[in-house]
Amino acid sequence: MGHLKSEWDIVAMAPSILITETIDNLIRDLPTFYSTSRTVRKNTFAVPKSSHEYYSKSFVPSSIELWNNLPSEIRCLNSHKALKAKLKAKYYKKVPAYFCYGTRSLNILHTKLRIGCSDLNSDKYLIGISNTDLCDCGGGEVENARHFLLECGTNLVAKVNMLDSITDLLHDRGLDNNNLLDIDLLLYGSDLLSYNDNVRIFSLVHTFIKDSNRFQVH
Ligand SMILES: [Zn+2]
Repeated sequence: MGHLKSEWDIVAMAPSILITETIDNLIRDLPTFYSTSRTVRKNTFAVPKSSHEYYSKSFVPSSIELWNNLPSEIRCLNSHKALKAKLKAKYYKKVPAYFCYGTRSLNILHTKLRIGCSDLNSDKYLIGISNTDLCDCGGGEVENARHFLLECGTNLVAKVNMLDSITDLLHDRGLDNNNLLDIDLLLYGSDLLSYNDNVRIFSLVHTFIKDSNRFQVH
C-alpha cells in the first residue's frame, strides 16, 4: 500500500531507539504511559492509551504500534544493519508514477491530504493552529481526510459524482466486491488497478477537491 513509506519513516527510527536503550529511559521517565512495561509478546511494548485521536497518532504511540506489528523474526534481530535491511525491504516501495498526475495546485492539495498536513481542521489542530479538530458541518465529527472525502454531508453532489464514478470503474474491473472504495484508494490508488485507472481515480478526487471549495486552488 502507498502509505507504507511513511510507516517506514517512523519504524526506521526504532532500531536506534531500541539498540541505544533509549526506550528504557522513556519507560522510566513516563511510568504512567508504560505501566505494564514489556508485554507478553517478545520484544513488544505497551501502547500508551488515550481517548484523543490526535494523541494516538502522535510519534511515540504510532511508533510502538508499528513496531509491535512487525513480524517477530524482524523484532528479534539484534543487528542494527540487518534490522534496517529487513525494514527497508518490507517498507520501501517506489512512489507510483500516478502520484505526479494533475495540475500542480491540485496535486499539492491531494498530497497534503495524503500526508496529513492539509488545511483540514484535524491537521491544523495537530500542530496547534486550529482551536478544534471538528468539521464545520456541525455533525460533531473530526474533520480528517476520511471525513472530508467520504463522510461529510457538505458538498454532497460533488462527492456523490466522485464516488459513483469510482464505483462504476471498480464494477467495470470486476472489483466491486473487494471493499476497495475506502480512504486509502482515494489517497493512494491501488496496486490492483492499472496506471490509467489510478489516474482516473486521482482525476476524480482532484475534481472533488476543486469543486468542494474547501481549499484555495491557485
Ligand atoms: Zn463535515
